[in-house]
Order: sequence, then C-alpha cells, then structure tokens
Amino acid sequence: MRAITTFDIQYAHRFYRFQGEAQYLHGHTGILTIEVEDTIEPGVNMVFPCNEIQKTAWSVIKNFDHALVLREDDPLLPAILGVYEKQGIKNGAPSNKMKGEAFKTELCTAYPDCRLVVTKETMTVEGMIKMVYELLKDKLNIAKITFTSGVNGASQEYKPVKSIDRCPQCGIALGENGVCPKCGYRKK
Ligand SMILES: [Zn+2]
Ligand SMILES: [Zn+2]
Repeated sequence: MRAITTFDIQYAHRFYRFQGEAQYLHGHTGILTIEVEDTIEPGVNMVFPCNEIQKTAWSVIKNFDHALVLREDDPLLPAILGVYEKQGIKNGAPSNKMKGEAFKTELCTAYPDCRLVVTKETMTVEGMIKMVYELLKDKLNIAKITFTSGVNGASQEYKPVKSIDRCPQCGIALGENGVCPKCGYRKK
C-alpha cells in the first residue's frame, strides 16, 4: 500500500536559453507529492506515518523553498552572488533561519546560507522530479513523485526496491541496530 504526502514549495527560477517567457526570472508555488510504498506495519496499521515522511523529506526539500534555483551555466548566478556578497548576505543573514541541510548530488547543489540551489539541468517540473528522487531514494521507499507548478505537471513511478523495518509502536524506521530512535523499541 502507499502513503501519500504533499509539500508546497515557493521558488524562483528561469529557463536559461529557452525561447519563451520562462527565460525571464519568475516565481511559482510548486506542489510536490511523494508516494511511499511498503507493507503495512501491523503494530501501527500504517505504511509509514505521513508526518515522518514530511520530516525526512522536508529537511532536504526545504532548500528549494523560498529559494532561487538556477542552472550552473546561467550568467545570473555570478551576478546575483555578487549582489548578495556586496549586501553581506551571501554567507547567511540572522533572519535566514528556515534552512535545510546542505546537499550535493550529480544533479544539484544547495547553498542554504543564501537560499540558492544550483542545478545541472534546467529546473522544469521534470527536472525537479529527477532531483527529488536522487535526494530521497535512499531515505524513503519512493513509489511515485508528482510535481506541479502552475499549469505544468509531471509524474514518475518507481519500483520500491526494499522494505524498511519500522517500529510497531510508532511506525518510524528503526535504526541500523534495530532500535526505534523515537520510543526505544528494540526489534527481537
Ligand atoms: Zn517557471
Ligand atoms: Zn517507536
């Protein structure tokens, strides 16, 4: 069965070298839906608690929220970093508190201090799905990712490769030692 959860992501981007309006910097509210598949853990009668999926995914996805997403070869990148530098906010600001964990994959690098994600490919809805899967595939048993932004939308199905051992008391993933990090339950 699947557990399904959604996230709202506010971001700015542009399609560098794209022949259309989207080559200009603009913003969106994107809606990301992640579907996680596994057996039902009988103790809690859940696949996985959705608030735990939220917590796990958001710690990473947060980097895209209220952020600027630019392709690595976009000349706006050095221009914007130059302005942030002059303004003294490139390496962080006291008001910039809602930061995610920095990450770097084949497809993207997050700079939480200046709310920037630099991507290898253009951040289309398809591009976002590829990035999110890459970032979360080892943390969650992802069966499907859907991303919509305005009238654009895309989705991709995946074959979950494993079953994650979960706590029969709170439903969250057990640690490598078979102990629940939340309630201390120990797998027999
Ligand atoms: Zn757009
Ligand atoms: Zn537990």
